Amino acid sequence: MLQTLTSGRKERGDFIMKLYNTLTKKKEEFVPLEDGKVSMYVCGPTVYNLIHIGNARPMIVFDTVRRYLEYKGYDVNYVSNFTDVDDKIIAKAQEEGIPAEEVAKRYIAECKKDMEGMNVRPATTHPLATEEIPGMLDMIGTLIEKGSAYVAEDGTVYYRTRSFPEYGKLSGKNIDDLEAGHRDIQVTGDLKEDPLDFVLWKPKKEGEPYWESPWSDGRPGWHIECSVMAKKYLGDEIDIHAGGEDLIFPHHENEIAQSEAANDETFAKYWMHNAFLNINNKKMSKSEGNFFTVRDISEKYDLQVLRFFMLSAHYRSPLNFSADLMEAAKSGLERIVTAAENLRHLKQHAKDGEMTKEENALFAESDQYVEKFEASMDDDFNTADAIAAIFELVKFCNTHASAEHTKAFLEALLSRLTTLCDVLGIITEREEEILDADIEALIAERQAARKEKNFARADEIRDELAAKGIQLKDTREGVTWKRV
Ligand code: AMP
Ligand code: ZN
Repeated sequence: MLQTLTSGRKERGDFIMKLYNTLTKKKEEFVPLEDGKVSMYVCGPTVYNLIHIGNARPMIVFDTVRRYLEYKGYDVNYVSNFTDVDDKIIAKAQEEGIPAEEVAKRYIAECKKDMEGMNVRPATTHPLATEEIPGMLDMIGTLIEKGSAYVAEDGTVYYRTRSFPEYGKLSGKNIDDLEAGHRDIQVTGDLKEDPLDFVLWKPKKEGEPYWESPWSDGRPGWHIECSVMAKKYLGDEIDIHAGGEDLIFPHHENEIAQSEAANDETFAKYWMHNAFLNINNKKMSKSEGNFFTVRDISEKYDLQVLRFFMLSAHYRSPLNFSADLMEAAKSGLERIVTAAENLRHLKQHAKDGEMTKEENALFAESDQYVEKFEASMDDDFNTADAIAAIFELVKFCNTHASAEHTKAFLEALLSRLTTLCDVLGIITEREEEILDADIEALIAERQAARKEKNFARADEIRDELAAKGIQLKDTREGVTWKRV
């Protein structure tokens, strides 16, 4: 496990970790279903465009939750889907005159690039809705058999919402006050028994992708996808189900109704939801058009800055995106990286040998920052306070790290700092940036190579730059480039 000796972390059992459960509307002690193991499902994006930084918030937040659980010694099975069949994907495919799966494939690849830039680790499994259709047919079949769902005349399958007595338990909505959700209702409501009923399977329209089913050639509704993928990869009962707070209703409410009716088990023990990332105090969203993509941000900042900015607020507080806050995140991050680089530099020239008695005592003084960090994270993943503890540790390092110390002492401090940063997914090593001047020089060399018809060298230079994230574009006016 992670640096048990130098980080000062306690073993599981010595602490109480609390998290806010949307289901009970309380902070609760976290006790997993199986000792030492955590199963976690996070609803992933619909892939029809580059992700925006609002979508990045749950990715960063729940990746951090996963990292902290692992730091505490849990074995985490983390599943996050891509919704790769959806009206918006189909619309985009029709616009471009290409198959829907091509659109999905392209944006899954782009999303993975953004995740890597933000240091969001790949999930244990990233299932795709389109690859899980047999499981969906099974679960829908079970729901029909149990009387929880019915087939309408046109081959649509609806969930019989009122058949689930606990409907509304997550969102706190009263079934009689409810209007049906909007996201999945593409088919006219006329064939429903009740306006609250929602779609499990819908017949295809001309030109849409479809799968055969006993009810109609068609495709699944959005909610059933997650119920089925969670069941297949994590089991009938899972520890944590998470997503943005807009998913509480209807998406997660409907997932509970489907899964619990089909499996006769409590679906998820803990439900976690992040608050919105806003811009001018309004939710950032594609439909409002008030968004920045992660890619936009990456043109101006290292995506580590975006990650640090997201974690500077508690995940259940709304966070307003602003240039000022990004600049503050940039300088905060810089302070941490500089302290770590300084330790690395000092230790290169430091004397060998064990830590002295004084150094041991000094190092023990820094235990308090680890304790503060852990206490903050144990309190519903309060990353804002955890970052404050890291800053205190940074100050301690800057005060006490000097050339007189042993390598062992400097290493222990560095390890302590990087371990805590790693829990937040913050990389403390400065990336070697390729300078603009070097790029220009390589481009000039490539032009010269092309003139001499040395295309092999020209391609080699293009590839070398691409590997460093530099994209070239040949235009009539010459070669332009950008960092991607
Ligand atoms: P979508 O692609 O719209 O299904 O969203 C993917 C994930 O991003 C879901 O967990 C949403 O709740 C979340 N999300 C979308 N917009 C925002 C936002 N502005 N702030 C925080 N989370 C968001
Ligand atoms: Zn979902």
